[in-house]
Amino acid sequence: MDNKVIITCAITGAETTKAMQPALPVSPEEIAQGAFEAWEAGASVLHLHVRKEDGTPTQDVEVFKKAIALVRAKCDLVIEVTTGGAAWMTPEERLQPVTLNPEMASLDCGTVNFGDEHIVNTLPIMRQFAKEMKERGVRPTLECFDLGHVYASHILIKEGLLEEPYHYGLVLNVPGAAKYEMDVLEFLVRKLPKGAHFTAFGIGGKANVDSIYGTLALGGNIRVGFEDNIYYSKGRLAKSNAELVERAARIAKDCGRELARPEDVRALLKLRKAQ
Ligand code: ZN
Repeated sequence: MDNKVIITCAITGAETTKAMQPALPVSPEEIAQGAFEAWEAGASVLHLHVRKEDGTPTQDVEVFKKAIALVRAKCDLVIEVTTGGAAWMTPEERLQPVTLNPEMASLDCGTVNFGDEHIVNTLPIMRQFAKEMKERGVRPTLECFDLGHVYASHILIKEGLLEEPYHYGLVLNVPGAAKYEMDVLEFLVRKLPKGAHFTAFGIGGKANVDSIYGTLALGGNIRVGFEDNIYYSKGRLAKSNAELVERAARIAKDCGRELARPEDVRALLKLRKAQ
């Protein structure tokens, strides 16, 4: 597994709209097709947000259930549901998809600015999320947008709310939080618990491509997709999520890495079988 890299595809997110990126998958059917194409292109994990019919973000379990079933019918991607949701949602609302016992879920490790908006994650909220995931055997991706978030995750570990192997998502370049810069990424990685796995990615076109090289250099994993970046290059929208995955796969292979397949991720992160 040492030489294998995991590509996560975050195909929809909460903020991107079809007006910004016409190829954005929004309905469960579009999500399943986009996920399948990303899987074919080399992704092994799907980071999943869902939308209402009018395109607004929702944490409704029924919509998640439908999207997950349609993805499962097409391919064996590992599914990581969001518990970040969208900026205005309550913690209870955000936590809902975890009740479906997915293999993985994101767990935001601190309050963070999202441009002019913000998402609140106090320690009590984080404990509630971590406890729910632990009880259900859901592997959290510990999303850290800033240095303090990494230290907050250490508190959860100390309290016995997280189990090894740890998997971090280092999210950089969100406006109002830590930037994607190589020395910032390197510093964050140094502060992770020994043996932790991580996926690091910059938000926005340039940072997103730069972060592929940065994370590979530090032994980490890759995340691409329309949640984080809608462009292939400056001024040129990506044709699909799969086009972004294809490039990430090509870069990883050029750097001498093999692509992890979903079964590799299940073994590496010790995921329990999805229900
Ligand atoms: Zn997300």
